[in-house]
Amino acid sequence: MAKNDQQFVKEIADIESDFPQWYTDVVLKTKLVDYGPVKGTMVIRPYGYAIWENIQREMDARFKAAGVENAYFPLLIPMSFMTKEAEHVEGFAPEVAVVTHAGGEKLAEPLVVRPTSETIIGHMFGKWIESWRDLPLRQNQWCNVMRWEKTTRPFLRTSEFLWQEGHSVYASGEEAEKETLAMLRLYEEFAKNVLCMPVLTGRKTEKEKFAGAVATYGMEAMMHDGKSLQSGTTHYMGQNFAQAFGVQFTDKDGALKYGYTMSYGVSTRLIGALIMTHGDQRGLVLPPPVAPVQVVIVPIAMKKPGVLEATHALKETLENAGIRVKLDDTDNSPGWKFNEWEMKGVPLRIELGPRDIEAGKMLLFRRDICEKQEAALGDVKAVNELLAEISEKMYIKAKERMHSRIVNANSLEELLAGVNGGNFVRAGWCGERACEDKVKEFAQATARVMDDHHTAEACLCCGKKAKHTVFFARAY
Ligand code: ZN
Repeated sequence: MAKNDQQFVKEIADIESDFPQWYTDVVLKTKLVDYGPVKGTMVIRPYGYAIWENIQREMDARFKAAGVENAYFPLLIPMSFMTKEAEHVEGFAPEVAVVTHAGGEKLAEPLVVRPTSETIIGHMFGKWIESWRDLPLRQNQWCNVMRWEKTTRPFLRTSEFLWQEGHSVYASGEEAEKETLAMLRLYEEFAKNVLCMPVLTGRKTEKEKFAGAVATYGMEAMMHDGKSLQSGTTHYMGQNFAQAFGVQFTDKDGALKYGYTMSYGVSTRLIGALIMTHGDQRGLVLPPPVAPVQVVIVPIAMKKPGVLEATHALKETLENAGIRVKLDDTDNSPGWKFNEWEMKGVPLRIELGPRDIEAGKMLLFRRDICEKQEAALGDVKAVNELLAEISEKMYIKAKERMHSRIVNANSLEELLAGVNGGNFVRAGWCGERACEDKVKEFAQATARVMDDHHTAEACLCCGKKAKHTVFFARAY
């Protein structure tokens, strides 16, 4: 490691011994985010927002291919809507921000700043749906939501965040349940191919499900410290919201029936997830599909004749091939630039100096494994192949890591040892809330998702016959 490298690395806290500080250092120093003036809010800066835009574009294309349409619903929801679904109001009451005054007057009815939009969308869908011909109705919105949180961290938990929420109504419960699982698969595929991030998926326990849902499914990703980050959820609502909001349709047999609804969402949390899945001591390691800059070109001996021209020509060649390129022709030293762009997680760096140009080659540095290799100058195919290889390797590395850190437990003591060691712990569970609560109390771990593919014999807590096999972990 060069001298200036060491100096640079010191600016970021040690990833192994102080992961929380490492995270804070990385998100602030790479200018992804800053703290907003209101406690618990974040400003997503251009470098962070560009990642979100790439996530949005990739995800939105998948929704559209699946036949979902985008719409936009209002930020403000009448307070009376929130109280119509009993579990929903109970679940969200501690987190809602309420508008009581506007235009200098006290409002007749307080308004809730949406924590999620099931209620208002249920209301509108109820208005729009008349007969079975209107079904299924499948809409999505990209928006912000607000949940007043006591402890906050950029991207992971903030009082306001950005997300998408998809909502569908079907004539039958089977169809709505089918989409609930299909959207979970869509998220899983997205996590793999766009974020290069392996996830565990499955149904949530009653305790962990969405307020008002019949069933919630989640995808959980393992962060560098072995903790779990819930990275997306899908919910089957049965007729709970349809009944509360009068989402009815006249069926083929002429009878008036309630629809079956489902919803699904991912948020800017995904940015936190990819930082904590792939990051290393030097900073971010961004997956090529979402990296705002996929290739940074650093000219060497920039003042020498022909160097700047060659780097500009290379930039144009790569851009024309659809690659997101940055040419760093600032007057900082090459060493400084290397550090800066490594910290910012750019997947590929190209170094180009007079000798390279003369030899008709370029030097490529891979951020994921921090290794160099050569290619012919301007070889677009080589660059594209490397970007694809980086994505694949990042996924495999994270997947192997996650799977090497899933352990089985037959008792609370074994579970505690497992989570203390930074593992996901697979264990049998009888299905009783009391045992789930005890796990939390004993090991500060929660049931992340249930594993349908595996059957444990006995509950790790009470020893009775296990109804489910559960992945337990400490979670963000
Ligand atoms: Zn039990």
